[in-house]
Amino acid sequence: MKKNISILGSTGSIGLSTLKIIDKRKSYFKINILSANKNYNLICSQIKKYKPKVFVINDEKIFNKVKVKLKNNKTRILNKFSNKIKSFKKSDICVIAIPGIAGLEPTIELTKLSKKMLIANKESVICGWNLIKKVAIKYKTSLIPVDSEHFSIMKILEKEKKNNVKKVYLTASGGPFLNYKLSKLKYVKPSEAIKHPKWKMGKKISVDSATLMNKLLEVIEAQKLFSLDIENIDIVIHPQSLVHAIIQFNNGLFKFIYHETTMEIPLANAIFEEDLNINKIFKHSRKDDIFFKNLNFHKVDTRRYPTFKLKSRINEHASTPIIINAVNEILVDQYLQKKIQFDSFYRYILSVLNDRNYRKYAIKEPKNIDQIFLVDKWSRKTIYEKLKKLK
Ligand code: NDP
Repeated sequence: MKKNISILGSTGSIGLSTLKIIDKRKSYFKINILSANKNYNLICSQIKKYKPKVFVINDEKIFNKVKVKLKNNKTRILNKFSNKIKSFKKSDICVIAIPGIAGLEPTIELTKLSKKMLIANKESVICGWNLIKKVAIKYKTSLIPVDSEHFSIMKILEKEKKNNVKKVYLTASGGPFLNYKLSKLKYVKPSEAIKHPKWKMGKKISVDSATLMNKLLEVIEAQKLFSLDIENIDIVIHPQSLVHAIIQFNNGLFKFIYHETTMEIPLANAIFEEDLNINKIFKHSRKDDIFFKNLNFHKVDTRRYPTFKLKSRINEHASTPIIINAVNEILVDQYLQKKIQFDSFYRYILSVLNDRNYRKYAIKEPKNIDQIFLVDKWSRKTIYEKLKKLK
């Protein structure tokens, strides 16, 4: 029987990698829901090519334009998810690849409507893991992280007892400025920051990789997903991006997962689960010579990546991760608009964590999505105020 599959963020890097896998096994899938924001041309071509049951477009102007252009199309074209979501058909598999906290509500809603959720959107896990988990238990939905590091941790831990784990290492490529002159970091342009040496990704995660914020967010993600103590999670710089996570066990053994630097590997493994022969899907296009590369691992230099110093603060209060995530989202946006300098992320995030109202919002343990958005909203408002003052 065909599998019903949905992809939220279908025009982005993760979305397109998923569609590439689907293209290789057309007879296996039926496309249920696709969703994107404002890439007009790609949205139109995906509706024509994949004929999804529903296409949800976040941006209102683009929605109106697509509606007019494809008025005779059978796909139900909707603006935003809203309460219409309840009428959607169930999916066997749903891939969540909307960046930022914008992905949280759709993640929770689609968890109610899917058998298996493949979660790329780390920001949703960071801000709303308790809510997502609760819904998943209620609706018997399985949750699979597809961020390559977390997918690797999940795979290693599948056959291990968690209390034998001594330390979990997440690998970081170091981004485009790993060997850049420190004194010049201040001046790096957004066009340089989004040029990742190893991964082809969206703009937000590319900037996060360059500042190492991506790894800090992944530490929080790992902590939430696998209930790990923060002291047992560390980051190592691994420029080749071939080893994705390393786990050290109490018995002295280390295990790691190694695969080609492409999201197609964790995505295809999460989609097909058992008996996957990657070369059959990609018809021998995978490179087998990657085993002959040298592998390097080294410690994080906090002069180059000062945001890593925030690791000691992420567990300070229940909502600190929501605050760090929200402030970082604004800063990435400001940096991409060339309004702040590359080396200012740490300083600005710290200014919010040191704000006189920080504790009041940070100590709240959100019980529902509105309470998460309350903390998120305060953080965004506060960083905008700081940006005005500190510039
Ligand atoms: P991209 O920027 O490449 O793509 C984002 C997708 O989401 C696009 O389809 C975009 O639509 C859509 N989108 C953006 N904003 C909204 C919104 N408000 N509502 C609905 N849809 C929206 O991002 P990536 O694919 O790189 O990353 C997606 C997520 O996956 C992120 O959370 C990232 O951290 C995570 N991730 C990504 C990896 C990667 O290799 N790319 C690796 C591991 C995790 P449009 O194009 O129309 O604007």
